[in-house]
Amino acid sequence: MDFARTGLGFLAFGIATLAGPPYSPRPVTFHLPDFIDIVLNAGEDRSPLGATIGQSLPNWGPVANEGRGRTVAMSNLYTDPDSRATRRQGAESLFDAATLVHYSGEPAPGLLNTILHEAAHNLGPSHEYRVGGKTDREIFGGPLASTLEELKAQTGALWLTEFLRSRGVIDEAFARQVWVDAIIWATGHIASGMYTADDKTRPKPYSQLAAIHLGFLIDEGVIAFDPKARAANGEDIGSFAVHVQRFGPATEKLMRLVGGIKARGDKAAAEALVQKYVEGATERNARIAQRLQRLPKGSLVYALEL
Ligand SMILES: [Zn+2]
Repeated sequence: MDFARTGLGFLAFGIATLAGPPYSPRPVTFHLPDFIDIVLNAGEDRSPLGATIGQSLPNWGPVANEGRGRTVAMSNLYTDPDSRATRRQGAESLFDAATLVHYSGEPAPGLLNTILHEAAHNLGPSHEYRVGGKTDREIFGGPLASTLEELKAQTGALWLTEFLRSRGVIDEAFARQVWVDAIIWATGHIASGMYTADDKTRPKPYSQLAAIHLGFLIDEGVIAFDPKARAANGEDIGSFAVHVQRFGPATEKLMRLVGGIKARGDKAAAEALVQKYVEGATERNARIAQRLQRLPKGSLVYALEL
């Protein structure tokens, strides 16, 4: 995509501006993106369930700092009929019919989300950014730093979608599809629990960022939960509605909030987000888990057809 090269400086500047001082814009170069079809995940790279859908590596150390990192989006995962049907079923058990109008079920919205998420890892305060001489790990501690970096990346994905929409690179209808897809993605992570199965004190960064996004967007009136409404499947009572027309402005506020926390090394504000939207939303998150855990979760089997 052309914007990836020509617009990179704008994207970097945009995130830097929202993050605010003491962070200041820096020159950003990285290659964006490679689309790859996975033919085999093996060894450490193969999970019992699921697989990585995008990566930007390395995201620390000299290669990252010199802007020589590479970003990939895995473009053939979860595109099989079973995965697509299961994902739609899950969405229909949580969201109302009006929201599902914006769920295309096609790979493109999710792919753009993945690309922008990976791009945002390279933008704003990242890599070896230091505030007061300290890295994010030293300020926040490892687990919270990881959650914040993922939160920044996914917030970047939501906000960059608005950025591209506002400049006519993508149209309004497609931006709405990207946002709804991102929220459906978030519910999937929320359903997998906030802490790892083998260490109940170890946060799962994607799950926690997802819970923070959902809670923040509910507070902003972008997403509403009606305990009496029927979900799109007509069966589940209690349903979420995404007010897509309110999405864009809220992404800027969220980018400012999250970028600012990283820029200032504001540990108290970071902990407050986790406290409010992870620890303080267990009922909401459990409801999502209860709906989605009814569905089969497939493992991926790879075959190469020539
Ligand atoms: Zn990430």
